[in-house]
Amino acid sequence: MKKLIKLPIYFDYASTTPIDPEVTQSMIQYLGNSEKFGNSSSRSHQFGWHAEEAIDIARNQVADLIHVNTNEIFFTSGATESNNLAIKGLAYSHNNKKKHIITSSIEHKSVINTCLFLEKKGFNVTYIKPLKNGLIDIKEIKKSIKEDTFLVSIMEVNNEIGVIQDISAIGKICKKNHIYFHVDATQSIGKFTVDLRKKNIDLMSFSAHKFYGPKGVGVLYIRQNLHLIMEPLIHGGGQEKKIRSGTLATHQIVGIGKASEIIQKKKFFSEEKKRLKKFHDILFNKIKNIKNISFNGDLKLNVPSIINICFFDVKKTFFVEILKTLSMSYGSACNSSVKKSHVLKAMGLNEKIVNSSLRFSFGRFTTEEEINYATKFLKKNIVYFYKKN
Ligand code: PMP
Repeated sequence: MKKLIKLPIYFDYASTTPIDPEVTQSMIQYLGNSEKFGNSSSRSHQFGWHAEEAIDIARNQVADLIHVNTNEIFFTSGATESNNLAIKGLAYSHNNKKKHIITSSIEHKSVINTCLFLEKKGFNVTYIKPLKNGLIDIKEIKKSIKEDTFLVSIMEVNNEIGVIQDISAIGKICKKNHIYFHVDATQSIGKFTVDLRKKNIDLMSFSAHKFYGPKGVGVLYIRQNLHLIMEPLIHGGGQEKKIRSGTLATHQIVGIGKASEIIQKKKFFSEEKKRLKKFHDILFNKIKNIKNISFNGDLKLNVPSIINICFFDVKKTFFVEILKTLSMSYGSACNSSVKKSHVLKAMGLNEKIVNSSLRFSFGRFTTEEEINYATKFLKKNIVYFYKKN
């Protein structure tokens, strides 16, 4: 029997993912009024100990996921805060000494706007433009290094086009030049194995809601040797080793822990990766030959689950119509209004392409039936809304 498809279909996993039911279950016990609501900083009674124990378990789950020590995991409210803390926290500790930061013009706004802010405070920032396919040229990073460069901040997977940067190579350059390296790995976690034992990364940010956990909780990994250097952005009771004060949100942290544990499970990556690659291939092969469709970025360098599609020369109403059925996004949902994609613009694409592109992203709960439905729907509608028809 044919499965019924529930419309609209969610194809915006790069913006946020549904919470895995196992994650929800793990969090619920910390949201009630029984013995698990305590404050993890209350060291004098068992209500506090319960919360502390739950947070310790979660810290272990997250540390295991990225192969670091538990004391290098700092809980935050999400990747925006983690990116701010990584960059400003390090910049403030270098005030009056080194002043130069290298980043790229396709970073998330939480990195770009933090850098723009620091420029107003007297820092200098180089924003490297990507190649046409969205890749950051390693040679450009090398060329941009100055005597007073103290930080390179480059994202691993781009949230709009899905291109994976060569983080290992950039890490090597940073190490050689004694420069700290921050990676925004918000779109990497859950998509492939992230093993920090193999990479020279000093700081790494990510958010639970991009890998089937709750919104409002994230992590900044801070390499041990930086703990005494980092300037906190939030001062208070000294939680998280005085680097990020504030009562820890037990339920959220339990959620990010559980979400991390799920993707650590044996075989998860191999099976999930195969499934998502298959969906990618179905979609790509079925729509690639449609006359006015092209792809932004570089599908060979991409995570399979993010595809940025340009629908060239279709009537404006096409977008309104297809978005009623297929929930995709214009560029990134992280810009609070529908703004033109700074990523596509930085890649040198013309206005018309920038204005005609949508991001299609899928994940754990996407089914093959939904992918097939989407391809048929796109084919049918693009013919209908093609200008010359
Ligand atoms: N970096 C990247 C690459 C992202 O995709 C996002 C979210 N879209 C963020 C940072 C910010 O994450 P959050 O909104 O959870 O703070």
